[in-house]
Amino acid sequence: MSEVIGIINQKGGVAKTTTAINLAATLNQKGKKVLLVDVDPQANATTGLGIDKTNLEFSIRDVLLEECEIQDAIISTDYEGLDVLPSNLGLSKLEKQLAGETAPEYILRRYLETVYDDYDMIIIDSPPTLGRLAYNVLVASDSVIIPVQTEYYAMEGVVDLLDAIKEVEEKLYSETEIKGVLLTMHDKREKLTNEVAALVQEYFKDQMFKTIIPRNAPVKRSAADGVPCVIKYPESTGAIAYLKFTDEFLERI
Ligand code: ADP
Ligand code: MG
Repeated sequence: MSEVIGIINQKGGVAKTTTAINLAATLNQKGKKVLLVDVDPQANATTGLGIDKTNLEFSIRDVLLEECEIQDAIISTDYEGLDVLPSNLGLSKLEKQLAGETAPEYILRRYLETVYDDYDMIIIDSPPTLGRLAYNVLVASDSVIIPVQTEYYAMEGVVDLLDAIKEVEEKLYSETEIKGVLLTMHDKREKLTNEVAALVQEYFKDQMFKTIIPRNAPVKRSAADGVPCVIKYPESTGAIAYLKFTDEFLERI
């Protein structure tokens, strides 16, 4: 039976994908069977694990439209026990296509349930929008991690996200726990980012992960390499921070 964790924040560029990939890879290194589900049409989690998104037989879109079995769309990666349900641009039209379905927010959950027994952890990477796809992520997730970049508009949108989580609980009867809020891409030499970090910490209190992910070039470089930073540059400060974060995450499970 797997634990399903959504990495969510409708703000783009806050390190959702980076966090999803490195958490998935670290959990896998610790011996867990992990499925990374890419729910972003930009498919950065797919390419970040070295999968060619232009050459997929099936993608998450086909699963959600019942055009293939979920097992047919899941791809194994170079790493034993780490699989991906890949995405590509085709997913961008899905918001509209799902409009006619009954209970369109439950579709992802329904299909993931069929592979619960195959994985210890299912990590879901989210799109930079708070539309139907994001609601699918919320309904499918037992808990969510909210990455927040320590820059000026960090909290913009976070209140809407918290409202959406409440709405899912009250109207869709699906409880989603906030597993924690993770500060990302932090540059401690900048006064402003330290002030923002303090503000976010004050707002979320105990919900904060103590680990802060620093801005670190190898993290960015590894995304282009299609290899998770924790695998490609394990000595980097970014990788070490993601390892610490994963330990902290496991303590909360
Ligand atoms: P999101 O999925 O929220 O849009 P990404 O994970 O794609 O965000 O990150 C946005 C950009 O920032 C990417 O180019 C990524 O490689 C880079 N990035 C993420 N985390 C770090 C970090 N800790 N240090 C440096 N660059 C980072
Ligand atoms: Mg992303």
